[in-house]
Amino acid sequence: MQQRGFLLILSGPSGAGKNTVLDAARERLPDLLYSVSATTRPRRPLEEDGRDYFFLAKEEFQRRVKAGEFLEWAEFCNHYYGTPMAYITEALEKGQVVAMDIDIQGARQVKEKMPEAVFVFLLPPTMAELESRLRGRSSDSDTAIRRRLHTALSELKAGIEYDYVIRNDEIDRAADQLVAIITAERCRLRHSEYFELLKDIVGEQGVISKDDEPTAH
Ligand code: 5GP
Repeated sequence: MQQRGFLLILSGPSGAGKNTVLDAARERLPDLLYSVSATTRPRRPLEEDGRDYFFLAKEEFQRRVKAGEFLEWAEFCNHYYGTPMAYITEALEKGQVVAMDIDIQGARQVKEKMPEAVFVFLLPPTMAELESRLRGRSSDSDTAIRRRLHTALSELKAGIEYDYVIRNDEIDRAADQLVAIITAERCRLRHSEYFELLKDIVGEQGVISKDDEPTAH
């Protein structure tokens, strides 16, 4: 019996530590997949094309939008970001868990299309810490940093729409919490899959069927 695959959406203000927490969670769960997004944002010095993002020209991004190649896409702080559909579909068919680091607008689109996805919101320890992390990324201009800080305040409010919330005071603890969420979600009872699971346990003879009344003791 194949384990249930699902999408794990991780959102939170820029600088909350989504990448770091996801990397730490993936060290603990090596079979956790990561969906590499496409973006028109310029590459930062330590980023690699194909690993951190697929860096695209605006025209190519728009062509892919028209061709329906994205599960969702959004404009964030003057750049486009989108999730390639093909990778997600293939991974879910294989029963894998795929983590996506996407903004709130993207998360809302996924909720429309795939309401069974799991939505996790990552909070920074404090706004002062968020600001110092954003300023520590020396690659972003002062204007870009101020724009992200401004966006962060409205993003914090949208956290109310998510299923789980993690405060990233400490990376290891935040990663442990994310792993715990994934483990719990893997065990979630799905009515549509439960009798398949029983078939696997009891055998094909059909000792138990959906129509059998549960026996009260
Ligand atoms: P950054 O430029 O810091 O890498 O990302 C900026 C924001 O874009 C982050 O909030 C991140 O979650 C979001 N983002 C990254 N990839 C995607 C994507 O494929 N779709 C959407 N909607 N947002 C994304």
